[in-house]
Amino acid sequence: MQTPVILDGKTLAKSIEQELHERVRRIKDITGSVPVLATIIVGNDPASVTYVRMKGNACNRVGIRPHKIEMPEESTTDDVIRQIQTLNEDPNVHGILLQHPVPRHIDEMACFNSIDITKDVDGVNTHTFGRMTMQVDAYKSATPLGIITLLKHYKIPIEGREAVVIGRSPILGKPVAMMLLNENATVTICHSRTKNLPEVVRRADIVVAAVGKPEFVQADWVKEGCVLVDAGYNPGNIGDIDLKNATSKCSAYTPVPGGVGPMTISSLIRQTVESAEKRFGLATAEK
Ligand code: NAP
Repeated sequence: MQTPVILDGKTLAKSIEQELHERVRRIKDITGSVPVLATIIVGNDPASVTYVRMKGNACNRVGIRPHKIEMPEESTTDDVIRQIQTLNEDPNVHGILLQHPVPRHIDEMACFNSIDITKDVDGVNTHTFGRMTMQVDAYKSATPLGIITLLKHYKIPIEGREAVVIGRSPILGKPVAMMLLNENATVTICHSRTKNLPEVVRRADIVVAAVGKPEFVQADWVKEGCVLVDAGYNPGNIGDIDLKNATSKCSAYTPVPGGVGPMTISSLIRQTVESAEKRFGLATAEK
């Protein structure tokens, strides 16, 4: 067995940032404005605070202006929707991110669905999901877009391969399954009621783990030579796959940290730049 390829999201994200930096500079040279990403954070969940800070830092690195809106824990669904509507109507805002998860009493999907799809750079609105699934022009859910970008960068064949996605959340499992389907993979989506999960996973050429349980996918569940995509990010920098033992069997894998995480942020930033380019009527430099 050959040494597996490390799908290095950290390095790829860095090089995408350099390209985005140039595109932001071009927007500024032509229009005198820079892209603006508005980020709403409700409450002060420590993990969310960290993610918002990391996204703000990434904005600063490429020249996007981050506009952080902190809302109190006790905000209602209506409060959040009102805030989103204000941002929808603000012509100076090009992207809107509602940091997930919001406190339990808030209807997250209703909030996501109130984001104008032309500013839905995190790809969370149901309408955005439908358009993406039907391959109509739409922003894509950030983590799935990061995963597909990484697989394509490393020329991992997707067409005709068996892909098994473990998890069916609206922000990760479902959209990544649809994106793999659109790349002509044969896709199986697993969840907490799936029977004989290890057997299903053993069929996979590409495994995407999006479960939220540390080292959930065991080494003896994976086929020799498969590609492991670990979207999990659990406390202590631990993914959803037992990578310590599984990587010796696979042909390529995403490390945790440094795999899917940086690509998620890079996708969000990229779609914010695209949104600003569209707003200013500038042709995008990439397709
Ligand atoms: P989520 O909303 O909690 O969804 C977890 C999914 O896993 C659900 O669909 C659930 O099935 C399924 N599941 C739970 N237990 C299972 C079991 N025993 N067998 C099979 N499936 C099971 O989580 P998420 O938001 O999608 O996040 C998943 C992971 O990705 C987390 O570790 C999170 O931290 C990470 N994440 C990383 C990034 C990044 O940028 N790297 C971004 C987002 C999320 P049911 O639907 O049946 O309940």
